[in-house]
Amino acid sequence: MRAITVSPGIANSARLDEVPEPPLSDGSVLVRTRALGVCATDREILSGVYGSAPPGEQRLVLGHESLGTVMDAPEGCGLSPGDLVVGIVRRPDPEPCMACAAGEWDMCRNGRYTERGIKDRHGYGAERFRVEPEFAVKVDASLGILGVLLEPASILAKAWDHTEGIGRRARVWQPRTVLVTGAGPIGLLAALMGRQRGLEVHVLDHNKGGPKEAIVRDLGATYHNDAATLRRLAPDVLMECTGAISVIRDCLGATGAAGIVCLTGVTELDKRVEVDIGGLNRAMVLDNSAVFGTVNANRLHYQMAADALARADRSWLERLITRRVPLERCNEALEHRKGEIKVVIDFAPAVAEAAAGE
Ligand code: BGC
Repeated sequence: MRAITVSPGIANSARLDEVPEPPLSDGSVLVRTRALGVCATDREILSGVYGSAPPGEQRLVLGHESLGTVMDAPEGCGLSPGDLVVGIVRRPDPEPCMACAAGEWDMCRNGRYTERGIKDRHGYGAERFRVEPEFAVKVDASLGILGVLLEPASILAKAWDHTEGIGRRARVWQPRTVLVTGAGPIGLLAALMGRQRGLEVHVLDHNKGGPKEAIVRDLGATYHNDAATLRRLAPDVLMECTGAISVIRDCLGATGAAGIVCLTGVTELDKRVEVDIGGLNRAMVLDNSAVFGTVNANRLHYQMAADALARADRSWLERLITRRVPLERCNEALEHRKGEIKVVIDFAPAVAEAAAGE
């Protein structure tokens, strides 16, 4: 079967390879891949600065934003042939630490976790993959290809879950406003979940005009493209979804009193900016502000994300997928083009055409 593989540590090494069928050791559920989302992490792996192949191997099957149809699953595991599923990315460390032992592998303490398509484990970017039933999450069938948004949505489900957990440090905490920085897939999914919570949502992005502005507006949120918004709004929650250092600097200390800044973006290596740490400390202490980082997601978050996507307007979600590329041209999917949101590698374009013709 065909798979997208890379040599971690070597820039621009992606190619469409012929690889053996997925081994049973990957899990008892056999899945036919429908689509694969591409994100900044994949591009970072492609640039040679992140990711690792399974021990003893040179190449890594890329891909962690999966979507596929179950071909075979053991009786009684909760999954049946035909179900639409997404594979969870992270696996607990072998030790395991207290977090991994409790199913909170997203909070792993010793860093020995593995991640499909990223760290020490082959990904989902192959025509077929196998996954353990407990690491496969069923998606509402009516979502179709939009189910590929589940993995990025799980990141935001966790971000919101932890934000609310931190909010509960005060007996009364009722957020009213959220500011999201960045109108990429992560920012827009953060905004969606903010709206689903009934909050007043603001999104700040550097793009002027273009589809992002309309997508934000049609969510019932307000779009901003001037950095001054960060000093003006003083939101209860600030979800930083760019990873850009100048934006992060401006986010710190920019919430209202008792505000929470949630950092979700991974900054490129070796980026620096000056921060007035004294002033920041003073503002944060006197305002009871919190800043925290979040990465990855556990099964509970995938389930929360699956519910959020199931409740979302399908035509709005469709606008997040701005480019679909067939597997044969997967290299094109890995290039980033200005202004685009989510790029998806389509493993079965014929299925999509048939559905569109119905
Ligand atoms: C993935 C996470 C992963 C992180 C770090 C992100 O792109 O969505 O699941 O933990 O990269 O490797």
